[in-house]
Amino acid sequence: MEHVRCLIIGSGPAGYTAGIYASRANLQPVLYEGPQTGGQLTTTTEVENFPGYPDGVEPFTMMDDMRRQAERFGTEIRSGIVSKVDFSVSPKHIWIDESEELTADAVIIATGASAKYLGLPSEREFRGRGVSACATCDGFFYRKKTVAVVGGGDTACEEAIYLAGLCQKVYLIVRKPYLRASDIMQKRVRETANIETLFEHNTLRLTGNEKVEGADLIYRKGEADEETRHIDIDGFFLAIGHHPNSDIFKDYVETDEQGYIKTQPGTPITNVAGVFAAGDVADPRYRQAITAAASGCKAAIEAEKWLKS
Ligand code: NDP
Repeated sequence: MEHVRCLIIGSGPAGYTAGIYASRANLQPVLYEGPQTGGQLTTTTEVENFPGYPDGVEPFTMMDDMRRQAERFGTEIRSGIVSKVDFSVSPKHIWIDESEELTADAVIIATGASAKYLGLPSEREFRGRGVSACATCDGFFYRKKTVAVVGGGDTACEEAIYLAGLCQKVYLIVRKPYLRASDIMQKRVRETANIETLFEHNTLRLTGNEKVEGADLIYRKGEADEETRHIDIDGFFLAIGHHPNSDIFKDYVETDEQGYIKTQPGTPITNVAGVFAAGDVADPRYRQAITAAASGCKAAIEAEKWLKS
């Protein structure tokens, strides 16, 4: 059975940065890319907030740069999905694509999180062409335009407020008659003049040709006064939550009630010795490429320390 010193799971900014640092520390890391090479970032259109790219960069280019940088120092990058782990033994056992098995001394989990989508066919059709799950990443492209944000939690309110600072108008589409968000966020939404909250609305479909131009909504679905409404929009932002990709680790690694891996504050150290978590799988709060990259760096440094000790 193959044995590796340092296994990295995931190919977003956290995984590749861990690869850069781990290979420079001579840990001979092996990195499995997972189902989405390049991670969540590759679902956006352009990255303008990652330091070092003053003119912005296409997500695929940026992730390819990171990948090549990790490879340059010796990270072995493989395609394949880690399907099962056993962290109760030493060395740790890892299964790839449900069959191949290998062992590892240190493991860096950088499997990210997946934004939840409504599941509408038109939402898939317009992904990257008006549909986004990250206002901080894509909001800038909708300056002075009209957008909609779906969701009633803190993320939706935060994104709506952020977008209201850039856009002419923001619709906040909420399926219940109230917001779930904290009082302070609700108050901020109410006090922002260019946010219109549409309570008890669900999205039926997005409309448009090349890109999103509008949305058909249903008001008070199933009630006597049910009504279909149309809004003209240029962008449609999902903010209905994220799902951290931590399911296969949960038998061993502690997670919070939402499934985010718990780490010692300010570090990527999990409750399992030799297992580190970096990036969005352990971060419900910041979820940015730059913060993920930083935590990937920390994870590799901690893995090196742990392997030496
Ligand atoms: P939440 O789970 O809190 O909220 C999700 C929202 O999306 C809810 O309003 C929910 O509606 C709605 N929703 C879910 N599925 C659908 C659907 N299919 N159609 C329409 N609406 C849907 O997720 P958040 O990402 O907002 O927050 C996650 C955690 O992070 C929370 O604990 C939050 O407090 C925290 N957070 C804190 C922030 C801060 O402190 N500044 C900022 C951002 C997040 P319903 O209410 O009907 O279930």
